[in-house]
Amino acid sequence: MNTSTISSPDTHLDLFADISNTNHEQIVFCNDNASGLKAIIAIHNTILGPGLGGTRMWNYATEADALKDVLRLSRGMTYKAAISGLNLGGAKAVIIGDANKHKSEALMRKFGRFIENLNGKYITAEDVGTTTKDMEYVNMETESVVGLPESMGGGGDPSPVTAYGVYMGMKASAKKAYGSDSLAGKKISIQGIGKVGMHLVELVHKEGAQITVSDINKESLDYAVKNYGATVVDGRDIYSVGADIFAPCALGAILNTENINSLNCSIIAGAANNQLAEEEEHGMLVKQKGLLYAPDFLINAGGLINVYSEHIGYNRENAMRDTEKIFDTTLNIYKLAEAQNIHTQKAATLLAQKRIDDILSVQSTY
Ligand code: NAD
Repeated sequence: MNTSTISSPDTHLDLFADISNTNHEQIVFCNDNASGLKAIIAIHNTILGPGLGGTRMWNYATEADALKDVLRLSRGMTYKAAISGLNLGGAKAVIIGDANKHKSEALMRKFGRFIENLNGKYITAEDVGTTTKDMEYVNMETESVVGLPESMGGGGDPSPVTAYGVYMGMKASAKKAYGSDSLAGKKISIQGIGKVGMHLVELVHKEGAQITVSDINKESLDYAVKNYGATVVDGRDIYSVGADIFAPCALGAILNTENINSLNCSIIAGAANNQLAEEEEHGMLVKQKGLLYAPDFLINAGGLINVYSEHIGYNRENAMRDTEKIFDTTLNIYKLAEAQNIHTQKAATLLAQKRIDDILSVQSTY
């Protein structure tokens, strides 16, 4: 064996320090020279069930960035599943590479084989950079995949269900803030009218809300103006435009100090993942400003609820009914946050962790 290419044993690596901080169960590094596959599967917690989370394909600047991303995202999935009452744990996978250049049938199928080797402990789905077609390739090698097209018995595009959950979170927030869950006449500003955002526009339009939107895609903007009478604002103006409810449905980490200080609304309720740039600092700032923040990982869980339904035998009506429960859970979180004088994201995390701890104790006897 030629050892000259192997790193010196002196190389310093703090991998276990990182994963013990986040308390991950298992990290799997997958390498296949033939297809060029370089993937990391992070299984955060399987107390409630198998870890479910999509596969993201992204051209990460460094391998450390890829690892950081998969650790962060998989932990988020644990809490999303737990707070939604699903018997699922949290996991996620990343494939390192440019989805437009490096993806192939062989790469996705090889990845499927690695998943198969985990014997059902990890279930994948599509995410940024992967498609339903890719999941069909994965499915040629393993059953541990959801998010398949309807023609294959899957649930198809989860975005309408996600939008419905966000809508439930919005209505619960309106009830808390204004005493009624009606959105009629409410001013709602939506950043990003893609797959989820546009469905949300449709739902709130039906209820008689006045809608303001921003997006970088002119076609989507034109569609929203024409079909839903939306008003368009440019880029950053979406933060300061006067609204009752602001719905971030494009990018993560947009709730930073500057943007929070610009906000001119009373409720934040949107689909984007990881909206708070720094969970503790910005969760507190939102609270101090008197804004009601509907925790993102709770109200955007409709997509996960939809794919969970696929895992147990797909039924769209059941998925929608389970998604409706987001309304009550949102109100419970507001109650807990008030009782403990903590920010709402923290209250949601506590509630999710409590369910994990409670079920762990259920499992403590034979
Ligand atoms: P999408 O890519 O279809 O839509 C995103 C939209 O945001 C696009 O129209 C895009 O043009 C727009 N956008 C990008 N940059 C922008 C900017 N700077 N300002 C305004 N608009 C901008 O994605 P999606 O599936 O609708 O998801 C939206 C968000 O919700 C993402 O953060 C995603 O992670 C999260 N989410 C989606 C689902 C789901 O079921 N699709 C589930 C949970 C969470």
